[in-house]
Amino acid sequence: MTDSILLPTEHVSATAVEKTYRTGQHNVPVLRGVEMSVHRGEFVSIIGQSGSGKSTLLHLMGLLDQPTVGEIHIEGQRVDDLPAATRDELRNRVFGFIFQFYHLLPELSVLENVLTPLMIRESALTYWKRKKEYREKAHAILEQVGLSHRLKHRPSELSGGEMQRTAIARALVAGPQILLADEPTGNLDVETGQGIMDLLRSLNEDQGLTIVMVTHDEAIAQQAHRIVRLASGRLEILEAA
Ligand code: ADP
Ligand code: MG
Repeated sequence: MTDSILLPTEHVSATAVEKTYRTGQHNVPVLRGVEMSVHRGEFVSIIGQSGSGKSTLLHLMGLLDQPTVGEIHIEGQRVDDLPAATRDELRNRVFGFIFQFYHLLPELSVLENVLTPLMIRESALTYWKRKKEYREKAHAILEQVGLSHRLKHRPSELSGGEMQRTAIARALVAGPQILLADEPTGNLDVETGQGIMDLLRSLNEDQGLTIVMVTHDEAIAQQAHRIVRLASGRLEILEAA
């Protein structure tokens, strides 16, 4: 059975996933039977035209939404049918999310933004007791993403690249296993976007973080281990990068 150690282990997967949005009397079928399996430590890009369902698929894998039909598995266990509270807990423990427009809270500093997942996860008492440890952790992660000189700045005082680095630090602070990134360079110039890609690649290579990234930019997508394309509600497997 030592052979099994050499097999890649499945980290998160979608099986026969369909998603239909219901708006008023209209049904909008977006995903029509998606099969996708992401291995532990893999960096996968999802590409596809605007409206092809890339964000929808990412949200389903990250337990932000539920499929109409089909299943989501984490480490081989079905998770999409768990009670909402269990899914919330699992999401907070397993996934970190980053988005095109950063979604930082404007009234909080960089350090405070990074601490928000821990504030949400812990009770007020636990958070207060462990505040020093958490601040040190947030500080260390901000240093890792190259922002230790911006701790007290507000988002409005940051460049786009710095805002995305803050969002990445926030996604990492609770120690996720899987990073889900939705167009993380979509609002950045080429050079700044490449800096974010270099950071994501080093997180994948040095820390073994599994990354699933949505992008419509071929040059960005090519930097992952593998590219899949969404078209007509299904996934096409493309060549390895
Ligand atoms: P992409 O990220 O590839 O641009 P999305 O996953 O955001 O695509 O959206 C796919 C399709 O689903 C689009 O036509 C979009 O309008 C529709 N859609 C997305 N979210 C909703 C929703 N909450 N309600 C209704 N339609 C939606
Ligand atoms: Mg999208």
